[in-house]
Amino acid sequence: MHFTYCPHCGEKLVKKEIGDEGLVPWCESCRQPLFDIPDTCVIVLAVNEYGEAVLLRQGYVSKDHYVCVAGHIKPGETAEKSAAREVEEETGLSVEDISYIGSYAYEKRGLLMLGYLARVKKAELCPSCEVDAAEWFPLSEAAAKTRRGSIAMQLVADCTARLQSGGWAAHV
Ligand SMILES: [Zn+2]
Repeated sequence: MHFTYCPHCGEKLVKKEIGDEGLVPWCESCRQPLFDIPDTCVIVLAVNEYGEAVLLRQGYVSKDHYVCVAGHIKPGETAEKSAAREVEEETGLSVEDISYIGSYAYEKRGLLMLGYLARVKKAELCPSCEVDAAEWFPLSEAAAKTRRGSIAMQLVADCTARLQSGGWAAHV
């Protein structure tokens, strides 16, 4: 979130030079900086026991490319719970294990995306109404289904590297 007005007093912010930060939005009446706050969400690659990953197609995102399960974290929810819930809601699969992979900045939309690898059992996919299609792809083919340079593509690559180096660290 980027502030133009102070969320505390409503005054229009000015730019002020602060130490190492350079010019930052500043409220003269509250005497405090209002830094941009990235919106935090989760992005998850769900992989089954045959090394296949679930990718989704969402017409409003792209007609040509597939995306990973993703969503916002609800108040009171940990990022891990949020990642497991989004997989269950968007694909109908139960998550058995979940591992944190890394974070990805999606600057254009002001998002900080926490990336997870979720272990699931192969089953028929029951996508939610938010999703146009959900399909299994061998992990080695999954990256080519995503948009080049996208966070989904990076997550597929990072999850593939994690699985090749020995797999699953954490448990739900
Ligand atoms: Zn203020």
